Amino acid sequence: MKAALITGITGQDGSYMAELLLTKGYRVIGAVRDMQNAKETLPTALMQRVELVVWDMLDQCRMAEILAEYRLTEIYNLAAYSSGTGMFNDAVDIGEVNGLAVARILDAIRTVDANIRFCQASSSEMFGNALESPQLEATPFRPRTPYGAAKLYAHSMIQIYRQHYGLYGCSAILFNHESPRRGLGFVTRKITHAVAKIKLGLVNELCLGNLDARRDWGFAGDYVRAMWLMLQHPDADDYVVATGETHSVRELCEIAFGHFNLDYRDYVREDSASYRPIESIQLVGNSKKARNQLGWIPEIGFHEMVSRMVDADLRKLIEQPGATKIGVS
Ligand code: NAP
Repeated sequence: MKAALITGITGQDGSYMAELLLTKGYRVIGAVRDMQNAKETLPTALMQRVELVVWDMLDQCRMAEILAEYRLTEIYNLAAYSSGTGMFNDAVDIGEVNGLAVARILDAIRTVDANIRFCQASSSEMFGNALESPQLEATPFRPRTPYGAAKLYAHSMIQIYRQHYGLYGCSAILFNHESPRRGLGFVTRKITHAVAKIKLGLVNELCLGNLDARRDWGFAGDYVRAMWLMLQHPDADDYVVATGETHSVRELCEIAFGHFNLDYRDYVREDSASYRPIESIQLVGNSKKARNQLGWIPEIGFHEMVSRMVDADLRKLIEQPGATKIGVS
């Protein structure tokens, strides 16, 4: 039986990854920083099927103990500071968790069991102020935030440990991916949550930044499948994981509001305080390598993903006591 460790199991990707690995018959161990929070966050059905272990990402000795104790075959490092607006906050902590922690895991693998396969959730933010579009594995990295810089350090360490020590480490260069489990701090979920509230008559306005900003948005379930496929390949490598299409915030609003036959123009206000100019070069990924070498194909399109998110937000709000159920159909 394969055994996989997932860091960040309480997050969006962590929970999808745990579900995927369980369907494939893995023993799944989640490394968490706070056991109580994890028990409260993880859905009961998942809690009953995974094992949890506490790991402080600054503690390298403990990582080595965990590797030795659980006899792991794969590690998915999905824990990170990942706030949409907080990429400049806590630069030192971000460096520790998003960057140095990866060196700790790699070094523990090297010393305890060099056969363990490792996958890192890297980010399109490493491309930052990219000079070319779309971006692919060979595109030069130009991070513009502490988040992107820390992810790039981790990405580089994976390449170094692969080349120097022959470790099996993969870096998944993930473009934005969303789902009903996305944090409320991200624009996609901010919109779908607000749409559900508007449908219920709980609010009647949504303030957003630049509606013409465009992103390459995929579905989180598809992206964790890409990471799993990476570790099943005979050779370790790095892959861009992206849809290759961009959509504007305005299109997102049209779909989300339109799902309930509402017109976004009646509710959305562009807020100059959070207005950011459109980048001259868009972040949009070319995932040809993942598609050709791993056979990865995203299954959930943008429209369906947004619809699922709105429906899930509506369900959650209705289940919450006190939500006004005006207009639910
Ligand atoms: P998420 O929902 O925000 O989950 C983040 C996870 O990291 C949570 O489990 C959180 O645990 C854990 N974490 C945060 N700070 C930590 C710390 N100091 N010590 C230990 N654990 C910590 O993020 P996600 O969307 O699933 O993203 C998963 C990974 O993909 C991240 O590495 C992210 O940087 C990367 N990524 C995501 C996207 C995207 O669009 N989603 C794009 C590119 C890359 P708690 O429950 O304890 O807070």
